[in-house]
Amino acid sequence: MANDDANTTTTDQLTLQDPVKRYPVISPPEQSLPGTGLDAEMTPKADLGEHSYRGTGRLTARKALITGGDSGIGAATAIAFAREGADVVITYLPEEEKDARNVLAVLEKEGRTAVGIAGDLRDRQFCQDVVAQAVEAMGGLDVLVNNGGKQVAQKEFEAIDDEQLEATFDVNILAQFRLVRAALPHLKPGASIINTTSVVSYMPPETLIDYASTKAAINNFTKGLGQQLAPKGIRVNAVAPGPIWTPLQPSGGQPTEELPDFGQSTPLGRAGQPTELAPAYVFLASPESSYVVGATIPVTGGMPTP
Ligand code: NAD
Ligand code: MG
Repeated sequence: MANDDANTTTTDQLTLQDPVKRYPVISPPEQSLPGTGLDAEMTPKADLGEHSYRGTGRLTARKALITGGDSGIGAATAIAFAREGADVVITYLPEEEKDARNVLAVLEKEGRTAVGIAGDLRDRQFCQDVVAQAVEAMGGLDVLVNNGGKQVAQKEFEAIDDEQLEATFDVNILAQFRLVRAALPHLKPGASIINTTSVVSYMPPETLIDYASTKAAINNFTKGLGQQLAPKGIRVNAVAPGPIWTPLQPSGGQPTEELPDFGQSTPLGRAGQPTELAPAYVFLASPESSYVVGATIPVTGGMPTP
């Protein structure tokens, strides 16, 4: 596509630039990707930062597990973490193998441990096993990024059937409880848990009632858990993205006819790219945010949050 290249920057995130113009205003064609969607099949492509993110040693030798690290925000975070010097394990669904391979190839170039584990976050046993496998692969765990998420837009409330309802709650919030429970025995003072929430937790769109409810739960979970774990030296925080161009959106996350305007009503006038989220995760993972606990960092292109 004509704007594929224009949508990928080679200018690193530390170079002074106009946020309005850092990326073009995209007008994605109406498209409906099967399943959870693949980055590899998006039009236009999303920018995961593989040609631009510059590390400065902020996560040297840290060991991070990132759910949904095959694509979108999780993939951009994985790339940033590896460039900052961290070992990284990503999880993904078996049908996302192609995306996972692409991201792992980028991570491997950083010379740290880079491992992918396929599985379904709806599966309780997987939530437990994946933590054990990550600990074994990296020799420990310092950072858990609860990022995997499911979003299916429905125009009518009655169309949210039990299958969608339960899957959305299982993936978005119950898996976060289960992964934290499995991870806690391994986390030492200095560890960090980062949950991906959303701007919709504050402004629920009428087409995302189930999804937005899980995101509000994540905000609350983050603040409650943050208080309980703070005395143990484990910090819990969240990142609330605004409209970000990821496979979640063209795979049923938005009504297809809304894709051409995606993100254009933000104050910056454009959708965000996944790599624009990565510095918030790096900040929360790194000791420089030592006094930040129970916080939610909005990365919304200016959409107001409370
Ligand atoms: P994405 O599709 O690239 O990533 C979501 C990932 O979740 C998938 O790659 C997949 O691996 C994982 N996932 C989904 N269902 C799963 C299941 N049953 N088992 C295991 N893994 C599963 O999209 P993204 O936008 O980067 O999403 C990352 C997070 O960001 C999600 O929590 C999403 O809710 C949140 N978010 C996204 C936006 C946005 O505009 N894209 C806005 C706010 C919040
Ligand atoms: Mg994916």
